[in-house]
Amino acid sequence: LKKRKIAVLGSRSVGKSSLVIQFTENQFIESYYPTIENTFSKSVNYKGVDYDCDIIDTAGQGKDEYSILNSKHAIGIHGFVLVYSVTSRNSFDMIQIVYDKIVNFCGIKEIPCVIVGSKIDLSQRGSRQVQPTEGEGLARANHAAWVETSAKNNINVAKVFELCLAEIERQAPTK
Ligand code: GDP
Ligand code: MG
Repeated sequence: LKKRKIAVLGSRSVGKSSLVIQFTENQFIESYYPTIENTFSKSVNYKGVDYDCDIIDTAGQGKDEYSILNSKHAIGIHGFVLVYSVTSRNSFDMIQIVYDKIVNFCGIKEIPCVIVGSKIDLSQRGSRQVQPTEGEGLARANHAAWVETSAKNNINVAKVFELCLAEIERQAPTK
């Protein structure tokens, strides 16, 4: 059994809590909007290995990188899920800033990380501000994984955390 701590970070309102709750509780609550930080636990079997995951749903104000991330979100964390909404250019621009800040905190060149473009169910209604190729490019530049999701329609939600476990294995397999 491997214990994994995963921090979910990103601008306010991009759907971090919705993603975590869909994954851990299999539900989507339209009005769910907690402002407190919460840790959710889930056991996952991935590629024949049992993982005991603690998922930290952060709840900064999300106006800037200082309120999104503080040092306690970089210490003792195995993997990072950085969420932007495909309907918000600002939230996308924040990802590189937060990524750089984590790398800086950790004092290493790269971190096990999944970059997530959320709310793709809204992109069909013409609300898309960030193209898939941009998300992919950002992930490639940072040696991170990337996926687009909908917490509402449960699209690629489990995939996010599988990719994160895979990135942790790739970068820190002995932990
Ligand atoms: P957080 O501040 O990043 O934790 O964001 P929340 O999870 O609280 O979500 C913010 C708002 O976006 C809420 O009204 C959610 O219902 C909505 N939301 C979250 N995920 C999705 C999604 O996949 N699709 C749609 N249409 N709305 C979403
Ligand atoms: Mg939240």
